[in-house]
Amino acid sequence: MSAGVLELDRISKQYRKVTAVTGLDLELADGEMLALVGPSGCGKSTALRLVAGLEAPDSGRIRIGRELVAGDGAWRSAERRRVGIVFQDHALFPHLTVAGNVAFGLDGWAAARRRERVATVLDLVELGELSARYPHELSGGEQQRVALARALAPEPALVLLDEPFSNLDRNLRAQIRTETVAILRSTGTAAVFVTHDQAEALATGDRVGVMRDGRIEQVGPPEEVFHAPANRFVATFMGEADFLPARVSGAELVTEAGSVPTPTGLDGHTDVEVMVRPHEVTLRAAESGPARVVGAEFQGAFVLYTVVLASGRTVRSLQPHTAAFTSGTPLVAELAHGHRPAILAGDESVAVH
Ligand code: ADP
Repeated sequence: MSAGVLELDRISKQYRKVTAVTGLDLELADGEMLALVGPSGCGKSTALRLVAGLEAPDSGRIRIGRELVAGDGAWRSAERRRVGIVFQDHALFPHLTVAGNVAFGLDGWAAARRRERVATVLDLVELGELSARYPHELSGGEQQRVALARALAPEPALVLLDEPFSNLDRNLRAQIRTETVAILRSTGTAAVFVTHDQAEALATGDRVGVMRDGRIEQVGPPEEVFHAPANRFVATFMGEADFLPARVSGAELVTEAGSVPTPTGLDGHTDVEVMVRPHEVTLRAAESGPARVVGAEFQGAFVLYTVVLASGRTVRSLQPHTAAFTSGTPLVAELAHGHRPAILAGDESVAVH
C-alpha cells in the first residue's frame, strides 16, 4: 500500500513515567478510513494528537502528504499540517454562529471565497438552512455535523476524529456515523477515527488498527481483525471469543465440539486452541447430547446461550430467538465456522492457511 496521506514511522511519546505510544508504525492511503480502536488508556488519543501536531513525538517521524512534519529536526505546527480535527465534545465556539464556526479555520481566505466555501461545506453536511443559528440552538447530531464541516472547510489532506460519536444518543449514533462516513467519502478525504467501541471500528474502518499499551497489535481490514486476529488480545477485544483446545489428527484439528481443517505452518505445535465466536457454534437438542444449556442472555432478535461441554468447558452460542432452549436442555454443540478458523498457540495466532 502506498503511504499517500499519512506515515508514522516508529513514533514514541512518553508523559513523565507513562509510555503513551511506543514504536508506532502506521500508513494511510489516499481517501482511506482507518479506525483506531483499543481499551481506554492504550494511547489512541495521544496518537491522534501527535498526528495533529498538538503534541511532539519523543522519537520517530511523521509524514503528512509525503511531507515530513515531525522528526529528524523537522516540526510543522498544527495550523500548518493540513489536518482537520473533530473532537468528542465538538468544541464549537458558543459565541459564533454555525457559519462563523465553519469560517473560523479560513482566516487567510479572501472574504468572497470564504463565504462561498462556508456555503459549500454547509450544503455538504445539509446545514445550509441553519447557518445563522448558535451551537446551543442545535441538536447533538447537528453540532457534530458543524464540527465536521469546520474540519473539512480548509480542504485538509486528512481528518482526525476523536471518539466523535460517543456523546450522541445511542439510537442516533449509527445514523450519524453512516452520514459522517458518507460525507468523508464524498469528499475523498482520508480519515482516522478513534473509538473504544469495536463494533463501531468494524463498521466504519476500511482498515482497523487495534491498539494496546501504546502499540498497534494488528492492522487490517475489518474481516481480518475479526476472523483472523493476530493474538488472543485482538481475538477477545474485537468480539466475544471462546477457545477450545484442539489435537492435530492429520488434516483435521479435533476439538470436543467437532473438527476444523488443520492449517499449514503449525510448525510442530501440538498444543493449540481454536477460536470460536458465538455465531460459529450450532446447537442441536439431543437426549444423549453431552452438552447442557447453563445460561441464556436475551438480546432481542438473538439469544446468547452459554453451554457447558462434556469436559466442563463452556462455549457461547448465538441463536435466533426462535431457537428457545431452556436451561438444562441436553444438546450437541458443534463448530460451524464457514471459514478457516483462527488457531492459537499460547497467546499468538499460528494459523497460516
Ligand atoms: P486513550 O485515548 O486510548 O484512552 P490516551 O492516549 O489518552 O489513551 O492515554 C495514553 C496514556 O497516556 C494513559 O496512560 C494516559 O493516562 C497518559 N496520558 C495521556 N495524556 C497525558 C498527559 N497530558 N499527561 C500525562 N499522561 C497522559
